Amino acid sequence: MTVRTRFAPSPTGYLHLGGLRTALYTYLFAKKNGGMFILRIEDTDQEREVPGAVELIYKSLRQAGLFYDEGPDVGGDYGPYIQTQRRDTYMPYAMRLVESGAAYPCFCTKEELQARRDAATARGEQWKYDKHCLHIPKEEAMRRMQSGEPFVIRQNIPLTGTASFDDALYGHVEAPCDTLDDNVLIKADGLPTYNFANVIDDHLMGITHVMRGTEYLSSAPKYNLLYEALGWQPPIYIHLSPVMKDASRKLSKRYGDPSFEDLLAQGYVKDAIINFIALLGWCPDVKKYGDKEFFTMDELVEAFDVSGLSKSPAIFNTEKLLWFNHEYITRMPFEDYLAMAAPWFDKALAGKNIDYRRLAELMHTRTELFSNVPDQVRFLAELPEYDAALYTHKKMKTDPAVALRALTLARPVLAGLKDFGEESLKEALMGLAAANEMKTGQMMWPVRTALSGLASTPGGATEIAYLIGKEETLRRIDKGIEMLKGLEEAH
Ligand code: GLU
Repeated sequence: MTVRTRFAPSPTGYLHLGGLRTALYTYLFAKKNGGMFILRIEDTDQEREVPGAVELIYKSLRQAGLFYDEGPDVGGDYGPYIQTQRRDTYMPYAMRLVESGAAYPCFCTKEELQARRDAATARGEQWKYDKHCLHIPKEEAMRRMQSGEPFVIRQNIPLTGTASFDDALYGHVEAPCDTLDDNVLIKADGLPTYNFANVIDDHLMGITHVMRGTEYLSSAPKYNLLYEALGWQPPIYIHLSPVMKDASRKLSKRYGDPSFEDLLAQGYVKDAIINFIALLGWCPDVKKYGDKEFFTMDELVEAFDVSGLSKSPAIFNTEKLLWFNHEYITRMPFEDYLAMAAPWFDKALAGKNIDYRRLAELMHTRTELFSNVPDQVRFLAELPEYDAALYTHKKMKTDPAVALRALTLARPVLAGLKDFGEESLKEALMGLAAANEMKTGQMMWPVRTALSGLASTPGGATEIAYLIGKEETLRRIDKGIEMLKGLEEAH
């Protein structure tokens, strides 16, 4: 048996992180078992259709490195892989169920349903469809369907007994039939609902293992009744615990939680996201992997096993993701870092003549998140407003008076420097400090402060002076001197 798994997103316009995790596990499971990973687009809820959303799914899965073997844009023997393009596939199976009594057409109008639902609610009852149309004689029902009268097809759940299925993770799941509703299988527009399409498509596409969120756990017994009625073998189900924002709610785009695309746009590195997501509710075999935390995609394929999946909800910990991101950035080859960082440098430094390569060297290990980079380097383009208190540093043994002396001494030396490279700058400033019996820090701290206006910077005085160049260095030193002199006069 060849393992065949599928990821079956609805085109909502983004890939939420729970969805990304489902896709990842589904992919890993297929690859681990030498199987096929299939993409199927579940777009039968046309009211929720978002333009461009399908293309975004293709793009996001590729960006994530989750390459599917079959799918709408790659083809395969089981297509079409978009449900609205399979429109004609479902009705014959629905009619087979109608024939055998496992389903029936329903002609109730929205108004009629609403009135009966309201009445049930008024009686304090939980509404479920009352099988009103089940009692229409078959011939009459057929005639009405053919006459063009609007209808839906409903699953006919037995009145008694139980429905059940076995989940690879959650075990035997059972529901008393009298708690289950006669769900719509085919809607008035002729398209199937998820409840029907998932069964038909998983079967026709030869899916052997279904991984999806636990929100489908309670409906799966009903799907099993459909498999039974059609005489089909159901796939193996592996339901996945929810990804939570915190103890009380699921991660959700509606509450402003980021999607996969949002994380990429914020400057998270794809490999860090995948590594982090993989460990959200799954744990590699401790005997084999110990406390190893870093996994490449190939390593994940190798390590993935259903036995490591957790049944408890996984909490999405942004701090941990950020930590992974920083680690991945730090470990990335310098040239890759430079290529990724350059567009973020541009956001703050475009048009300035700054040595990006040198800046990247200084920023590489200081980058936690690329979207923070523009703010971290903006001071090179524009000196921020700062307070004279910044010149005071206990350990460096400087204060505004020491700083004024340092800057006043440094000004002509820097102005006279022909070579404004870091070595030459360092030599000049250190030499100057020594010649005037100042500690190195008493020279470097004031200069760094005057050049940056910040308490902490990538690089020190000489690196910053080199990056912003002589003219700007002198301008900023002058500004510092002016500020410190003003301070003295005020005393
Ligand atoms: N279209 C469903 C969703 O996006 C997929 C559920 C499944 O994998 O069967 O939630």
